[in-house]
Amino acid sequence: MKDTFKREIDYLRISVTDRCNLRCLYCMPDGIQDKKDHDEIMRDEEIINVVEESVKIGITKIRITGGEPLLRKGIYNLISKINKVKGIKEITITTNAILLVGNVKKLKEAGVSRVNFSLDTLDSEKFKFISNTSLTLDYVALIEELKEYDMQPIKVNAVLLKGFNDSEIPGFIELANKYDISIRLIELMTIGHLNFDYDKYYISKDDILKKYPELKFVKKDNVSEYYQVDGNKGYIGFINPISHKFCSDCNRIRLTADGHLKPCLHNNDEIMIKEISGEQLLKKLREAVKSKPVSHKLDESKDNRSDRSMNKIGG
Ligand code: SAM
Ligand code: SF4
Repeated sequence: MKDTFKREIDYLRISVTDRCNLRCLYCMPDGIQDKKDHDEIMRDEEIINVVEESVKIGITKIRITGGEPLLRKGIYNLISKINKVKGIKEITITTNAILLVGNVKKLKEAGVSRVNFSLDTLDSEKFKFISNTSLTLDYVALIEELKEYDMQPIKVNAVLLKGFNDSEIPGFIELANKYDISIRLIELMTIGHLNFDYDKYYISKDDILKKYPELKFVKKDNVSEYYQVDGNKGYIGFINPISHKFCSDCNRIRLTADGHLKPCLHNNDEIMIKEISGEQLLKKLREAVKSKPVSHKLDESKDNRSDRSMNKIGG
């Protein structure tokens, strides 16, 4: 279905939980603030209902996200049920991957075709700092496992943070080349109301390109611009939703874990659909598509942000 600005909306991002096993400093450093009761979170049947109705308005692609989606009880079973919905052509997932190592086969069998995993640093001590936990991720084992089960292309997401990981670009280039994968640097966004010093950590793509002129532009898709060092395999991507808005290519709506449709990531408009089904649900899905704004306004002021923190929306 097309929205008011003639954009084809065929992609639904589903946050299956707002909980997480990490406490990333820019996302949920203090854990969950307003913990939802179990019955406030969308049940499997409710999520399946939304997927079934969304197919009727032209959704064909689903991304599972969170919080940390692999923490949800019965997640593999839920994904298999989504995979059985007629009309769904692709299921992907965004995960911090802590629980994925050793479970890639299960994820593939459930119906996921591609994985984006988050990794802000290649240094395990720095990982502990930014994730605000004592956990680490064996990303080499994970990449090899993803390749073994042909879950490709592999995309790694790193939030670009000045003074934290902007010096790690050479390491990211080497990793991308070694495994022929994409490492996408995401521009830090102000979202929710965290005590996080966004101005201190913000660094733009242009600053990175000035520092690493060996990165040459290769191609663009609807959210990322890909760069490569001549002769290398793999890409360094940039996702710049604020400084280089890609709203005109937006193809998505979002479902939060507590049953709200979000037409746009960066404002507070939401449509409650928990416990709504059938024709009524279909109507709400159409309303979500039709109410998508032409673009977000976060570049005009940080106050034009969503009050929900990222773990409640799913990125
Ligand atoms: N827990 C999973 C993960 O980390 O991949 C899925 C949910 S997480 C909210 C989705 C993505 O949002 C991650 O890649 C994360 O780094 C990114 N993210 C979270 N807060 C952000 C912020 N303030 N600015 C930019 N990206 C952010
Ligand atoms: Fe958890 Fe992902 Fe947020 Fe980090 S970015 S705290 S892994 S939801």
